[in-house]
Amino acid sequence: MSEPLLHVDDLTIVFPGGRGALPWQKLPDVRAVQHASLVIDAGDTLGLVGESGSGKTTLGRAVLRFLQPDSGSIRLGDFDVTGFGRRVPTAYRKSVQVVFQDPVGSLNPSMVVGAIIAEPLRIHFDMNAGAARNRAGELLEQVGLQRHHLDRYPHEFSGGQRQRIAVARALATEPDLLVLDEPVSALDVSTQSQVINLLERLQRETGTAYLLIAHDLAVVRHTCHRIAVMYHSRIVELGDADDICERPTHPYTDLLLASIPDPDPAVQKVKSQRRRELAQGIAGASGRAPADSCPFAERCPHALDVCRESFPEPVATAAGGTVWCHLHTSGPQLGGRPVSELSTRSNAVRDAVAREAVAAPDV
Ligand code: SF4
Repeated sequence: MSEPLLHVDDLTIVFPGGRGALPWQKLPDVRAVQHASLVIDAGDTLGLVGESGSGKTTLGRAVLRFLQPDSGSIRLGDFDVTGFGRRVPTAYRKSVQVVFQDPVGSLNPSMVVGAIIAEPLRIHFDMNAGAARNRAGELLEQVGLQRHHLDRYPHEFSGGQRQRIAVARALATEPDLLVLDEPVSALDVSTQSQVINLLERLQRETGTAYLLIAHDLAVVRHTCHRIAVMYHSRIVELGDADDICERPTHPYTDLLLASIPDPDPAVQKVKSQRRRELAQGIAGASGRAPADSCPFAERCPHALDVCRESFPEPVATAAGGTVWCHLHTSGPQLGGRPVSELSTRSNAVRDAVAREAVAAPDV
């Protein structure tokens, strides 16, 4: 079996607490990422999903080597990323590129688009001005824009077009890995689907692997081969995208899925009921779990006593993924089976509706 392209192992990132409102006050350290491990194969897409503050962007920034982790390791191909000194090799910058959420802030407003895209070409491929401009034109056409756009400024484009320019600039270095940090969340819904379709087409054409950071599980499911679900600095579930979305094994993933609106009123009714049931466990939660406990313990409708005492060990799921939840080893002992097996009436109804939807013939 070939080695994965990206290998993140037991990564921990802690931000030191700053000063409080009073001179003698010191705020506690912030554990942004704790013991995170994941792999991405060449040409694959891994979705890193979770709510704001879960640590997914911090993990992405560590892969980009914008910050140095406190412990653990990151390898990308032959690069020992955590072993870099203060200076990150130019070859690594060429191999890993990023598309940020806000295309307005990530494109230099004083440069024309041709110069923005030509800059990495001149740095990494030592191209002369003419060759760089010609290649920049090709890249613009590849992302669905035209050569005459080379001489325009970023403010002359719509949000979706600016994100296309950001993608063209990122692909200019022919990277092995593209970190996509919420690439569509600032765009309207119809533009979101255009950019997602563009990214999928470009991956088929170039073979670039993606680390897609998003809070929207619906977008991630549509785009990714595998998904890692993060909650409060911890990866809590990892596996094949379809398996996770159809048979979640972690209560937080179940809650995320129940939160996705469905156009079918029957399915939506069941989802709303499911969400209300899950929310009952959230009532009274303080949102502050002890550091070594399960971070979801204060919100989890299935929490056991052990959940407040220790973080769970990884358990292999029936579908071949990994889940970190005490339900699989204590209490009901799910042993890697879907959390829906903690059957409730709404689960049974939801499954029946899903079965009917699958069985219904296409018209
Ligand atoms: Fe809920 Fe416990 Fe599982 Fe955490 S470990 S998700 S609190 S059941």
